[in-house]
Amino acid sequence: MTLEKILSPYDGSVVGEMPVASAADVERAMVRAQRAFEIMRKLPRFARADILARAAELLKARRDEFVRTIAAEAGKPLYDARGEVSRAIFNLTNAAAEARLQHGDEVPLDADAGVFEYQTTDADGRPASLADLDHAALASMRRRVGIARRFPIGTILAIAPFNFPLNLVMHKVAPAIAVGNSVVLKPAPQTPLTALLLQKLLADAGLPEGALEVVHCPVDVAETMVRDERFAMVTFTGSAKVGWHIKAIAGRKKVALELGGNGTVIVAEDADLDLAAARCVRGGVVYGGQYCIGVQRILVQESVADAFIEKLVAKVKACRVGNPMEEGVDVGPVIDENSARRIQSWVDEAVAQGARVLAGGSRERAVVMPTVLTDTRPGMKVEDEEIFGPVVTVNRYRDFDQAVRRAADSKYGLQGGIFTQDLRRAFRAIEDWEVGGLMINDVPIYRIDNMPFGGWKESGTGREGTRYAMDEMSEIRLMVINYA
Ligand code: NAD
Repeated sequence: MTLEKILSPYDGSVVGEMPVASAADVERAMVRAQRAFEIMRKLPRFARADILARAAELLKARRDEFVRTIAAEAGKPLYDARGEVSRAIFNLTNAAAEARLQHGDEVPLDADAGVFEYQTTDADGRPASLADLDHAALASMRRRVGIARRFPIGTILAIAPFNFPLNLVMHKVAPAIAVGNSVVLKPAPQTPLTALLLQKLLADAGLPEGALEVVHCPVDVAETMVRDERFAMVTFTGSAKVGWHIKAIAGRKKVALELGGNGTVIVAEDADLDLAAARCVRGGVVYGGQYCIGVQRILVQESVADAFIEKLVAKVKACRVGNPMEEGVDVGPVIDENSARRIQSWVDEAVAQGARVLAGGSRERAVVMPTVLTDTRPGMKVEDEEIFGPVVTVNRYRDFDQAVRRAADSKYGLQGGIFTQDLRRAFRAIEDWEVGGLMINDVPIYRIDNMPFGGWKESGTGREGTRYAMDEMSEIRLMVINYA
């Protein structure tokens, strides 16, 4: 097996080495995972819950090792890397609790008289007539019970992006274990070392061998897995372009897609402007803006626009830019220099089309300076496409409903935000704005890991968040028992 060097996006130094999986290695991993499914699917709930709970404890003990690996290979500021590990611990704890709780339903089979009569025969095999039956006969006829139970579906292929190498993987692995599936994980090519640490952690927590296989393989080998009908499901987090391609070639298996967005925030005239500015900076430029639910477009009511923009620009300029491994740094590099070049070219293009730069606007190698643009409009890439960089646009609006229309008029629909004291506006907005989540007095980056999370339109299909992912990763079998 060949080893590949994993490099720091900040300074190109070697972070570690990762074995590259060939097509034959991937096949062996698949077979091991299928074997492990036969063990996983029969484990009692408490055993699955105990593995997850033990893994949470081990992750607490190994927190520093994970933080440093995430920060080094993803170029993520330490503060954010620590937050990611905390979220992953919660994800495991929550999955342990949900593993004990997940249950099906008893289905009421005697709810309708006409259907009850139609589905029933008398002792001679003829259709029963309810009119002829006394209470005792009715009681004996209703002796059917329907039980809908949830079962694990098999081996799941999980494909992950670089920006949360631990927690976005956890959003797939923890619910899969909670319901009794096995997983073959293809981590992002830039961040496989964290996935390897997670595999070891779960093995130490007692996960059966093969129940989590990690394959750091080329994209063509990954595509072969996507097409492989032995997988029961592919759960993908990444860009819309790759995600929808995967859905197109995935065949009959289930597909869940967590994709990108161009997160929009509306700041109304009654907003707390300090809060709104602080949260827009947190959600827009910190960690190089590399959040699928990052803030990209800000629409501010014209009567408070000058005051808001002044606060926003001051806070963006105050961000500390530099080495993500140093304490107190807010913005490190984006994942590689190619991405930085692309982000810069979108900014330059917008400026050539009439946008003005209020902060930033330049880059050095893979570090893009936190940037605020104004006078942007639909039709520009910085508005319509996911920028995935530390760049926000801010523009003025007059009428709230018009702002909601502009926010909703996007091919994406992941999460949005509104700063207002008027809840009537919030409830009106969610009726017309197709998003997976709307944050009131916060930015779309707000996510707690038990929330239902996912997108409308090009932003994806299916939901994550422990309990919701467990539903996607299990299937109902109904049993009807006639005990008359
Ligand atoms: P990406 O789409 O480039 O890659 C994601 C994964 O897919 C990687 O592991 C990659 O190697 C793999 N891949 C690429 N082509 C493939 C193919 N043809 N077949 C199989 N696998 C293939 O995304 P990225 O650059 O790693 O991450 C950034 C993107 O992820 C952004 O668009 C962001 O919005 C999105 N994202 C979404 C969420 C969410 O939960 N909705 C969270 C984080 C990131």
